[in-house]
Parts: sequence; structure tokens; C-alpha cells
Amino acid sequence: MKILHHGAVNGVTGSCHQLIVDVNNSLLVDCGLFQGAETSGRGDDDLLSIEFDISTVQALLVTHCHIDHVGRLPYLLAAGFNGPIIATEATAALLPMVIEDALKVGVTRNQSIIKACLARLKEQLIAVPYQQWFEVTLKEASRTKVKFQPAGHILGSAYIEIDVKADVKGSDQTAKHVVFSGDLGATYSPLLASPKSPYKADVVVIESTYGDKNHQGRRDRAKSLEKVLIKAISDNGVVIIPAFSIGRTQELLYELEQITAKAKFKKLADIEVIVDSPMAAKFTEHYQHFQTLWDAEAKMRVKQGRQLLNFDSLYMVDTHRGQRHEPKH
Ligand SMILES: [Zn+2]
Repeated sequence: MKILHHGAVNGVTGSCHQLIVDVNNSLLVDCGLFQGAETSGRGDDDLLSIEFDISTVQALLVTHCHIDHVGRLPYLLAAGFNGPIIATEATAALLPMVIEDALKVGVTRNQSIIKACLARLKEQLIAVPYQQWFEVTLKEASRTKVKFQPAGHILGSAYIEIDVKADVKGSDQTAKHVVFSGDLGATYSPLLASPKSPYKADVVVIESTYGDKNHQGRRDRAKSLEKVLIKAISDNGVVIIPAFSIGRTQELLYELEQITAKAKFKKLADIEVIVDSPMAAKFTEHYQHFQTLWDAEAKMRVKQGRQLLNFDSLYMVDTHRGQRHEPKH
């Protein structure tokens, strides 16, 4: 058994790991896009192409659908990969939207190419529930099964446990339990349950993007946000928050709902929240659809009749069509 890293090696984006089971079989974990500083000085071909041999890849396992983990998927399909793409049910629901957006922004606006790519993706996509072993078919007598465990990072995110039993003649290789962390959420982050450590592992491949940082506690963070809002109200101002459309936006909405629900004065309780992103609006709908994946605190608030991601003073911009103003002559 061997692990090759095709991304997130010199930096933190472009996650792509290949678990070599034997000469005939390998599994790919994520196939992400290089972003930010890691793209400078490198041409498109260099960044997007699948530069490694995929002839032995039997399946792609997806930890979660952030673009730095799935963005090179269309190029993997274009390179001829036609095996299963395995992900949790929520990730499988979000993935076509993420890939559609990635194609539109970075590759083409040609609808027929986009449609063809999405059709291929949906054909190969297999959604599996959390915490259940799923057998991945390999060539010859090697066997492998995978299990997705909640990672608490974004909706559908998982760390992946892989049980590998290679058929290597004349070798005494025994079963190995390998864990790929994907991105892990912090404990006590809003909405999603904190991840639980795996029971065992022989090998762990762990992402450590913020490994050298101490995050501010959640309660302090919410307090800072409330202070900013109060200051803006007293200034008759507006607060603009740039946020990722999957994960961060929904966490912010969750905290804003709590701030407005517990507000001690009317202006704060009635503050209007506008999510100006059709993408984020779509993802927020999916967050609501998968309420079973929310943590105990969020479920309790729902039981109390609160609309956590759809509160009264929240406005979602779900299309930018028809809102463009032509300059006057
Ligand atoms: Zn991520």
C-alpha cells in the first residue's frame, strides 16, 4: 500500500490523494482546484490537468464539496475517469451545483458542454449514508470498503475511513485501516455536530490548514459580531460581510438569528439581513433540507418554533437576472 499526494502538498489547496492498493487498484480521495497564491506563475494547463496516471483508479471518494477539494473533477472526467464518485448524501446533492458554478466561472458558458459534464457526473455519483460501510469494487482479489464519518466542516462533509485488504501474492500484507481527514470543523461550531475521532487507524492523512492558529471562541466571536451590529445601528450604517456561500454564510445566518431573537432593543431585533448571492441562497435551502444533520442545539431551537435560516427579517437574493441597470445616455 502506498499513498501519493497530487495536491495540497506545497500549499493548502488542490487536495488530491491517491491510495495505491496494489498494481491494479487505487482510490482517489478528492480532486481539488489550486487557488490563490498557489496559482501564481503556473499556466492553466499546469493547474487544471490531471498529470498523473489514472488507469488504476477504481473510484473517487469526495470528503466535501468545497472547490479546493472537487474543482478538478471535470478534468478528471475529461481525462477518461468513468468509475464511481462516492460521497455522502448531502455532498452528492450539493456537488452538481458546485461543479456547474465552477464550470461557468472558470471554464465555459457553453450550456451543452456544462449539461454533458453534469450528466456524466450524476451518472457516476453514488450517495452513501454516514457511518455505514460501503464496498468499493476492485480488480482481482483485493478488497476495500469505505465509511464516511461526520467532519463538522460544511453540510455533508466527512472524514473517510478506508479498510484495505490487498491481494499481493507472496506478501504477508494484512488489512490496513487508513483515515483521510478532509477538512475538519472546530468543536462547538454553529449548526453542525462536532466530529468524533475515529476508533482506530494505521495511517492518518490529516489536513492542517489552520493547524498553527488558535481560533477565537464561538461565544466571543458572536459577541464581537453583535457589537459591530450595534455600532452600525448607532451610526445609521450598513455592515457588509464577504462570506463563502457554502458553510460560512449559513453559520453567519445562524448566529444572526440568535442575535436578533435575543436582542434587547427593537432596532437590533428588526435588523434586515440580505444574502446577496443566488448560490448561497440555493445552498441555504439544502442546509434546511438536511436538518437531520444539524447539531442538538440547532434542533432544539427548531423545536421552539424558530426559523434559523429563514427568519422574518432575512432576504435572499435568489437571482441577479433583471437587476442590471443600463447606463443612461
Ligand atoms: Zn473545505
